[in-house]
Amino acid sequence: MSRHSAIARSRKWTGRPAPEPVARAVPRAVEGGQDGAAPPSWYRDGVEHVWLPYAQMKTAAPPVPVVRTRGSRITLANGREIVDGVASWWTACHGYNHPHIAAAVARQLETMPHVMLGGMLHEQAARLATRLAAMLPGDLERVFFTDSGSVAVEVAMKMAVQYWINSGVRGRTRFVAFRGGYHGDTTGTMAVCDPDEGMHGLFKGLLPEQIIADLPRDEETTAALDRLLADRADEIAGILVEPLVQGAGGMLFHDPAVLQRLRALADRHGTLLIFDEIFTGFGRTGAMFACQSAGVVPDVLTVSKALTGGTLPLAATVATRRVFDAFWSDDPLKALMHGPTFMGNALACAAANASLDLFEREPRLAQVAAVESALREGLAPCRSLPRVVDVRVRGAIGVVELDRIDDVTDLKARFLDAGVYVRPFGRIVYLTPAFTIPADDLRRLTGAIVKVLAGSRGRTPA
Ligand SMILES: *Cc1c(COP(=O)(O)O)cnc(C)c1O
Repeated sequence: MSRHSAIARSRKWTGRPAPEPVARAVPRAVEGGQDGAAPPSWYRDGVEHVWLPYAQMKTAAPPVPVVRTRGSRITLANGREIVDGVASWWTACHGYNHPHIAAAVARQLETMPHVMLGGMLHEQAARLATRLAAMLPGDLERVFFTDSGSVAVEVAMKMAVQYWINSGVRGRTRFVAFRGGYHGDTTGTMAVCDPDEGMHGLFKGLLPEQIIADLPRDEETTAALDRLLADRADEIAGILVEPLVQGAGGMLFHDPAVLQRLRALADRHGTLLIFDEIFTGFGRTGAMFACQSAGVVPDVLTVSKALTGGTLPLAATVATRRVFDAFWSDDPLKALMHGPTFMGNALACAAANASLDLFEREPRLAQVAAVESALREGLAPCRSLPRVVDVRVRGAIGVVELDRIDDVTDLKARFLDAGVYVRPFGRIVYLTPAFTIPADDLRRLTGAIVKVLAGSRGRTPA
């Protein structure tokens, strides 16, 4: 029996004494049945074979067995229902199981679940590309589909590098990205993540060397970036940024003016500007796309996370006419050399089209504004709590930053005990709920954060 299964079968499950101290982190919510029954057999067997993301498998709390979702609620195997504060990594913007998306996917499953885009095109991909081009500002009008955010960013980077090659300019293979940024977990994208938060050190030697700068927030940092671009423009293919909110790097906010400065600097030094809207796209920051809040049109833009309303994996890299034109040629070597097997999957595109219907038919952005004020009000009491250094809200993103979090496993367990799913990381506790979350559920989320942080003893890891 592996050590992990020993954890899964510890006292909390079987009534026998816990074999390891880590069992303290097992929250009440993952107890088996409400009358102490064992967790389901699929869980007991599977937990020994599944490798979970970003988790030290030895010491992390065992995953919570989930059996159902609906709206902003998640039902656990023991029948307990918890309120979801994360919307499954920010994807489930309409809440879980929206019937309009479910019906569209079911219809598509009947006619054609998938056909490759190698030499073929189907209605769902065509309609989705047309709609994205119409929604996005400027002439962002050519859509390349992929199946994950990281790959969408990889494609954006390849587009930028090949844009210069196709234009007859050699040597432009590097990117400028920013401290606090996050663009994915693949080899290419890790190299443009924040060097401390990311895995630059661990994977040194594997990763290409990129240029990580400070965002141009003021005169000094703007001048520094201007100098950097002046010195190295001939090796830089593009500038890559998450507009308005840097998400997985710490939920850090910046002003629209920063994006206007980046557009001006990219133009002055003749380089491409890439906005990674994988987190910010589809209403999360209050506008449909963050670039619209700044009135800035990037040369390339990526979307994913909420694209299908949190139902199926799909991403897109959208290029302006100018970028696409550099690939438009009689020369086969000038084609974009990329093509994921499942690109433009018809089920995923049907889900995305249905999700866009909902943005058209239902008052989503007004709901985001309502979530924003409720987050402001509900999280305000955190300001006076010990260890809290900042409380910030933008759109449907609420962040409480602490001076540090000593024991994140324990903190997560206490949120579960309070009946909510909240997933703190680094020094922050945050909420990114569904835009459709009922006011009561949102109050339960903010109330749980206030209560749990107020009771925080700031203990050190065992
Ligand atoms: C999540 C995220 C990615 C990576 O997307 P995956 O689908 O996890 O590969 C890239 N950029 C940003 C801004 C993200 O939030």
